[in-house]
Amino acid sequence: MKRIIYVSFDHLHPKYGALADADPKSDLIVLVESARMVTGASWNKIRLYFLISSARHFKAELEQLGFKVQYVKAATTVDGLKKVAKDYPKLPIISAHPSSHLQSKQLAEFGVSFIENDFFLTPRNLFTSWADNQKSFLMESFYRAQRNRLGILVEGGKPVGGKWNFDKENRLPPPKNYKYPPYLKHKADEIDQMVADELGISPSDTWGTSRKAAKAQLKNFIDNHFANFGPYEDAMTVDNWSLHHSLLSPYLNNGLLHPAEVIDAAVKRFEKGDIPIASAEGFIRQIIGWREYVNGMYWHLGKDYKELNNLNAKRKLLPLFEDADKTKMNCIKSNLEDIQARGWVHHIPRLMLLSNLALITGTNPQEFLSWMRRVFIDATDWVMVPNVIGMGVHADNGVMMTKPYAAGGAYISKMSNYCKGCVYDPKLRTGDTACPFTTLYWDVLDRNHEQFVGNHRMAQQLFGVKRLKDMPEVKKRAQAVLAGLDKGLI
Ligand SMILES: Cc1cc2nc3c(=O)[nH]c(=O)nc-3n(C[C@H](O)[C@H](O)[C@H](O)COP(=O)(O)OP(=O)(O)OC[C@H]3O[C@@H](n4cnc5c(N)ncnc54)[C@H](O)[C@@H]3O)c2cc1C
Ligand code: SF4
Repeated sequence: MKRIIYVSFDHLHPKYGALADADPKSDLIVLVESARMVTGASWNKIRLYFLISSARHFKAELEQLGFKVQYVKAATTVDGLKKVAKDYPKLPIISAHPSSHLQSKQLAEFGVSFIENDFFLTPRNLFTSWADNQKSFLMESFYRAQRNRLGILVEGGKPVGGKWNFDKENRLPPPKNYKYPPYLKHKADEIDQMVADELGISPSDTWGTSRKAAKAQLKNFIDNHFANFGPYEDAMTVDNWSLHHSLLSPYLNNGLLHPAEVIDAAVKRFEKGDIPIASAEGFIRQIIGWREYVNGMYWHLGKDYKELNNLNAKRKLLPLFEDADKTKMNCIKSNLEDIQARGWVHHIPRLMLLSNLALITGTNPQEFLSWMRRVFIDATDWVMVPNVIGMGVHADNGVMMTKPYAAGGAYISKMSNYCKGCVYDPKLRTGDTACPFTTLYWDVLDRNHEQFVGNHRMAQQLFGVKRLKDMPEVKKRAQAVLAGLDKGLI
């Protein structure tokens, strides 16, 4: 053997990272299942199941390719590498550059050599050169540059379909009397069963744990959901938990799928001519735009970014986040139950329900971030930190997003069918049945007037507060709502 190749649980692809040029004759492959990962926090067990079972399947896949693989269980990743290094003291250890600040530091200190992390479409230095030339980090500018650089949905320098962005067409509420395609169910095998038994749960049929399953999920999206992805992208409904979302983030984040494979499948299908441009553009923007932008920003903004709390939000995590029975809000309860069941809800509940609630209640960003990281199946540091700190709760005072995503019950009522089954009324801002979102929306604008007043994009909303004649009553109701939320009674 000439080298040890360390493969982390989010680099599970045989053709990328340090495995790209690996040779079964001279490379020993090491995967480490660290106790810190398993017991370090009260992780959603579905997340652990997915990560561990995927890694164990990947070990089997590499062995079939002829590699010698050591799957080590140890207290920490570095302890696991130490164990292997004891047996092979002279061999260098290499790895693709880790996907988090913490692991980069720990592995570098241990002496692991890094090669470029190519699990994204944008090398980190390329993103830096884009970011260094921006006055503000607008995702839309980055996305257009990506379209041109990668030559996707571009003809002669012009956007296919005549527009760069079809977002406005993609904001329909949930359809009524609509038949959704059946959910794709994944069958558990022996490895899945063993991991589930170790964790004391049943195997998940929502999430597959092999490359084959990840490819089946991609095919399911392309065949059954891609055409309608756009229009209902922002809709939320009690009728169906995934609508037309792809459910690909876990596989993209642990390496079972590479973004190039996803884009290739999407572009090929679009070229057949039966996918509306608004759906094709909308989906491609998520992959080559949002996903790459968020990863680029994670590295560009540095390791201290996750500690920001520029709105000085001090409230402790609301009890409802730990126990869905601690709320009567139908929208929140329903999503917490979905998260408990599958570790997943789509981007609008994450942003406009969960993060919005944290923002308008003044919940401490770090407490909320830590909860989000614990409960979601796809919650990797690089993607959760910018999405929560920057986009979700505006704790960076607008470094990433030009204005906070605060919204009242009117938005939720328009984009979902939760409100019909709720004890609260989205139209009311005062009184016992006032929607907590509606009351707190006005209250948060008033509470943070100083911080928001300099932001011209907030002018209309702040003007709205001034025009409210019943603001004293709204503020009184807001105090009651906050106290009730703290006690788990609202
Ligand atoms: C507050 C907040 C927290 C989030 N936390 C995570 C997280 O921990 N992990 C995660 O993978 N995504 C996160 N997202 C982004 C997004 O919600 C999920 O990627 C998406 O819901 C996953 O479901 P899907 O694969 O069906 O996505 P689709 O809606 O089908 O979109 C396709 C893909 O686009 C990418 N994508 C879309 N939006 C984003 C985004 N904002 N940032 C990065 N990638 C994006 C994902 O890879 C996703 O799989 C978060 C968004 C918000 C607003
Ligand atoms: S009324 Fe308010 S709390 Fe109830 S479901 Fe609608 S938005 Fe959510």
